[in-house]
Amino acid sequence: MCSPLCLKALYGPGSRRGFVKKSVMAAAAVACGVRAASGAAAPTPAAQQPRNFTNILDLTHPLYEGFPTFDGSKWFTKEKKYTFAKEKLNINTWTVVEHTGTHMDAPLHFTADGHSVDEIPITDLVVPLAVVDISPRTQANPDTALTPDDIKQWESANGPLPEGCCVMMNSGWHRLLDSPRYTGRDDAGKYHCPGFHGETAHMLLTERNVKGIGVDTLSLDIGMETGQFPVHYAWLGSGRWGVEAVANLDALPAKGAILVLAGPKVRGGTGGPSRVIALV
Ligand SMILES: [Zn+2]
Repeated sequence: MCSPLCLKALYGPGSRRGFVKKSVMAAAAVACGVRAASGAAAPTPAAQQPRNFTNILDLTHPLYEGFPTFDGSKWFTKEKKYTFAKEKLNINTWTVVEHTGTHMDAPLHFTADGHSVDEIPITDLVVPLAVVDISPRTQANPDTALTPDDIKQWESANGPLPEGCCVMMNSGWHRLLDSPRYTGRDDAGKYHCPGFHGETAHMLLTERNVKGIGVDTLSLDIGMETGQFPVHYAWLGSGRWGVEAVANLDALPAKGAILVLAGPKVRGGTGGPSRVIALV
């Protein structure tokens, strides 16, 4: 759960109201204006900049029965409850394990009493997006991680990480959804897929202002740390969110996009299938 100190660190000092012009498109207004209008907390410097976009990208894989899971079991099912042939309307019944498909992780996922999905402020879910591409090396080494050096290289090319951003790992894994390689499971039951290095999580927590991290794999941690989950514990334990199994990352610029993380508003939910959108 975000402590008052944590919130202060996230939002920083100062406050401005009413700076968003009505002409700014609606979703960008959410990114810039809601926090200022609510008066709940001051906007970050990056959030004070009016934003515009010309393209909308869907970063969401379709969810279907059989979407890959680490243990191979079905974490999503869909059955007909009413049919048009019989009842003259269609309604399905779903069963969902929260962490399937393209989905978000709330702090409660890896804490005793952190924020559940419904408790995350909406202003934390529309943020600048920094995409760190490590895909050139994941083919040869699926156990590789997004390291602090990757962040430094991104910053030397693009400038400092935007205030209050989401750092997204593009490992190329989003291209593998239909491949057995997606889960990374080997014959011995170990998992080989990229993720964030624990030192990177520490760096982003202590030396940068980052709201969330995202991956195109099934886990924020590298596959070989499934069962230990050092990044999940550190990151979600700090009151921040994650998003996993993100799609379509090759279509994004390294910087300049706005991420809209539209997760389920389920009371007490630890995460859930989400619509992830980029405004470019
Ligand atoms: Zn998850």
